[in-house]
Amino acid sequence: MAVDLNKLKSNFEKIRARVGSGVEVIPILKGNAYGLGGVGLAKFYAGTLGSKMIGVAHVREAAELREAGISCELLVLGGAPFNNIPAAVAYSIQTTAFEREYVDLLDREAEKQGKIAEIQIKINTGLNRIGVKPGEELTNFVRYIKTKTHIKVRGAFTHFAASHIEDHSLTLGQFELFKQAIGEIKACGVELDYIHACNGCAAVWFSEAYGTAVRPGNLLFGYDNNEKPKNALGVEPAVTWRCFVTQLRTLQPGESIGYNRYFIAKEPIRVATISVGFGDGYYRPMLMGGGFALVNGKRCRFLATSMDQTWLEIDGVTNVALNNEVTLLGKDGDDELTVYDWRKFCGESIVFLSSIISNRVERVFLS
Ligand SMILES: *Cc1c(COP(=O)(O)O)cnc(C)c1O
Repeated sequence: MAVDLNKLKSNFEKIRARVGSGVEVIPILKGNAYGLGGVGLAKFYAGTLGSKMIGVAHVREAAELREAGISCELLVLGGAPFNNIPAAVAYSIQTTAFEREYVDLLDREAEKQGKIAEIQIKINTGLNRIGVKPGEELTNFVRYIKTKTHIKVRGAFTHFAASHIEDHSLTLGQFELFKQAIGEIKACGVELDYIHACNGCAAVWFSEAYGTAVRPGNLLFGYDNNEKPKNALGVEPAVTWRCFVTQLRTLQPGESIGYNRYFIAKEPIRVATISVGFGDGYYRPMLMGGGFALVNGKRCRFLATSMDQTWLEIDGVTNVALNNEVTLLGKDGDDELTVYDWRKFCGESIVFLSSIISNRVERVFLS
């Protein structure tokens, strides 16, 4: 799998230009950077592009980045299991706080390690996943945090439940609550370095909500899920994924391929066995749903699959040789397969299909 860093750079610059110089762009690299390769991309964003902060979902992901030498600020967006607290403190990772019990344990661990643990407060404005409700609940929580001697609040943020849909009313309502929450935190005498609400989709259209930072994931990688406006920034996908032909054969009528004779030839058919399977994170329903791959610029339908190997029909494709490239994603000749095609093959979301590409697949970063 190859990731075109020039495309990622231009996507990033388009986002930066949209939000303006006063707003930090925090790349969200959770889930192995949505499948593109977390460590490699963290080095790229923190190093080449100069990101001050990177966001991930789990403490383990942040710890992996620290171990790989990433020294910028790291924010864990999700809730941390209590046994992750020692690592979060040791690696100076900012975590997200929304419960008193967590704050207690974090404070105690920070004291033990002789450090100050940094947190950002998550405001629940309607997604009801994690977060503190604005109003009394929030004010009491902030006052409670202030009694802790080894904790510093760095920021506060919320997350929108449906910023990609054309009807923005839900998002606007969430933002009103968030503004209220920020006012309440400040009224408790807490300064906030980071105030942020926008994921990638909202970063495209919701400038009133930028605060000090935006948190794009998808958008960095060229996937804009906004229903309207459609890809207003013109971001471009950056991934090419290829595998190889490992054997060629002609099936005779009655011969089958796949476990349990998944496909039975009715007439002679040219078949290539290729070096990819669901163990690589190629989502199996894409094969059943009419998916195809490109061989020598031609669309070839899948016939059957297994964990490591898959069968393609190559009737009508000329000059297919052993070790021939097979394009699962990207350009081949005049044709191109994109994640939008993948979505059509199976109806699953782009984030899902991209983030499940497994670690077995090598990531190469082209610059
Ligand atoms: C995943 C995530 C993001 C990034 O979302 P995209 O829709 O990919 O831009 C931002 N904020 C939070 C809290 C997230 O969990």
